[in-house]
Amino acid sequence: MHAARGLSLETATTPAFGSTDVLVRVRAASICGTDLHIYGWDRWSQGRIKPPVTLGHEFCGVVEKVGSEVEAVKTGDFVSAEMHVNCGHCHQCRVGEAHICQNLKIIGIDQDGAFAEFVKIPAANIIKLDPAIPERYGAILDPLGNAVHTVLAGPIAGRTALVTGCGPIGLMSIAVAKACGSSTVFATETNEQRRAMAKKMGADVVLNPAAEDAVAKILSETNSTGVDVLLEMSGNPTAIQQGFKALRAGGRASLLGIPTENVPLDLVKGIYGRRMYETWVQMTALLKAGRLNLEPLFGERVKLEQFEDAFAKLQGGLAGKILLYPDGLPQ
Ligand code: NAD
Ligand code: ZN
Repeated sequence: MHAARGLSLETATTPAFGSTDVLVRVRAASICGTDLHIYGWDRWSQGRIKPPVTLGHEFCGVVEKVGSEVEAVKTGDFVSAEMHVNCGHCHQCRVGEAHICQNLKIIGIDQDGAFAEFVKIPAANIIKLDPAIPERYGAILDPLGNAVHTVLAGPIAGRTALVTGCGPIGLMSIAVAKACGSSTVFATETNEQRRAMAKKMGADVVLNPAAEDAVAKILSETNSTGVDVLLEMSGNPTAIQQGFKALRAGGRASLLGIPTENVPLDLVKGIYGRRMYETWVQMTALLKAGRLNLEPLFGERVKLEQFEDAFAKLQGGLAGKILLYPDGLPQ
């Protein structure tokens, strides 16, 4: 699948791989909001993407072959991967902040990714998955990492939380906050389908800020105090401002949503992506323990060939996560 104003399905050669690389046979890949931007060929995509490139950075699969120097992974292992490839020697890498490396490359954006039968990954980025983790969960660990990183950026157990924006990552954040002991999770979302999903993901109170005074409702349900934790997952300026109004004095605001325009605010704590690799450890532990129910996310599963349908549904906000299967649908 190659990018440039829309996408096309093409036959590619199996990627050549070096002595420290791993070749993975993709079992399931998932479409990210970033893929939708590239599909729509917006300004960001035109500046960043150098076609032809195979998209896809959310996936899981089975190791097909490993390079001669690779020891930690072997053929047949069930894996996912951290698709941010860091340089290892810039200032941020040296101080243990590899996720904001100055020379970061993303597989599936800057080089060929996982919307294909095979993808090449540096061995250092491979994450071995416990076979107890279902394939469909293995395919969405990248956005789940964003949710886990944001929710766990501060205390959550026994605290009230507000998730503003219930796209895929907001929906996952609801489940993570509940699994980690949040006492009451409020959620705001303007799209009706997604409000219904927020309820299924375990939100206690789901509000439509376009139709009701969400801030007043949250304040009245919290003794006029406001919530302890704001998890901003929309990037929408109105949602961000409402989120801060609904947050108690001294509360924690963790903002994952990327604003589309300037928002006048004093920011408390921003979040970027996830931490390598602490977040991977936290989320796979939560999944293995069976504490996270993400089932309502998976409405659709399609063969890779039917990618056009999947992109159209996601563009309309009609689905949570859609998985693409290069090898045919699972039984
Ligand atoms: P998404 O666009 O699918 O979801 C955003 C949701 O917010 C939508 O469902 C939309 O209907 C809802 N929304 C819009 N206006 C609203 C309002 N006024 N009140 C309540 N809800 C409103 O995005 P996603 O894929 O779930 O990602 C969430 C956000 O996180 C996006 O802004 C994305 O760009 C950002 N992101 C950031 C990072 C990072 O590293 N910081 C990584 C991944 C995603
Ligand atoms: Zn670096």
